[in-house]
Amino acid sequence: MVYRTDYHMHSSFSDGRSMPEEYVGYALTAGLSEMGFSDHLSVIDNLADNNMNPANISSYINYITKLQKETRNIKIRIGLEVDYFEEKEKEIGDFLQLQPLDYVIGSVHYLGKKSVDLGTEIYEHENINKLFESYFDSVCAAIASGLFDIIGHCDLIRIYGYRPSIDQEPLYRKLAKTMKAHDVVFEINTNGRNRPLADFYPNRKYLHIFREENVPLCVNSDAHMPSRVGQHFDEVYELLRYIGYTEMAIFEKRIRYMVPF
Ligand SMILES: [Zn+2]
Ligand SMILES: [Zn+2]
Repeated sequence: MVYRTDYHMHSSFSDGRSMPEEYVGYALTAGLSEMGFSDHLSVIDNLADNNMNPANISSYINYITKLQKETRNIKIRIGLEVDYFEEKEKEIGDFLQLQPLDYVIGSVHYLGKKSVDLGTEIYEHENINKLFESYFDSVCAAIASGLFDIIGHCDLIRIYGYRPSIDQEPLYRKLAKTMKAHDVVFEINTNGRNRPLADFYPNRKYLHIFREENVPLCVNSDAHMPSRVGQHFDEVYELLRYIGYTEMAIFEKRIRYMVPF
């Protein structure tokens, strides 16, 4: 069997529709060897109601640990998707250090206090070229922070389909080089297909850059409901083989291993 994982899914511990156990059957049907929960968490209180309260972290970890013990035929990993804020690096680090996690996805969902993916307001009021540059700068800072194992949807700024007029290749090149320098994994996130963008993150046009820079990857659905686990994975793996990828990253207790696919 081909080894496949999906490390990015949200349960009702954050903004997912269903409890963790309801995702297991779909993960098995999708032919996954491993699945991992990555519920949203932010160290900034009350930022958005789609986040898990950090005070609930123990019940989240205990719940999934119990599910791990009860589940056969698939490995269940415990992760988080954590908001990155440049001025909050210490708080994020202090919090994560105490948690028995398999991996942490770091994501930029905000530029300052403005959301990138909860509406188009920011795109209507800012210069799109500058917005793209700011977003990529913030993702590079997240990578360099050393706080995260995987970077979530590294060009989420494409979500509503706004396009910059500048040449984007240098943005992706810098992103990939920063990932390689800090030994951080990126994800192919298939949930962009369900958003106005209607495509994967990152932009397939620039995927070859990540290959050229030899950046490790994993493939994730960012499912917020069980039926979307492993969504579009056949297409992604075909694309990756075409680009020249032959292996992907898996994690256990925040240590990375590479497996062929
Ligand atoms: Zn996200
Ligand atoms: Zn997510």
